[in-house]
Amino acid sequence: MSSTFVCRNQSCETPWEQSEVEIRNEGQGPLFRCPVCGARNYLEQFEDDEGNAVYEQVDGKPFL
Ligand SMILES: [Zn+2]
Repeated sequence: MSSTFVCRNQSCETPWEQSEVEIRNEGQGPLFRCPVCGARNYLEQFEDDEGNAVYEQVDGKPFL
């Protein structure tokens, strides 16, 4: 399975593989910063059957 992210900055829209970005949690859930433009891209964290963290990109900013 390949989960590719796409930078949500409409003037960037660079695709990234999960291995190419640094996923962090700044208190609003997991996110990565686009290495090209620095935009925050928010993610949702899931666990696969083996307990590994997998991420799915969410649109915009998660509601708190
Ligand atoms: Zn970008």
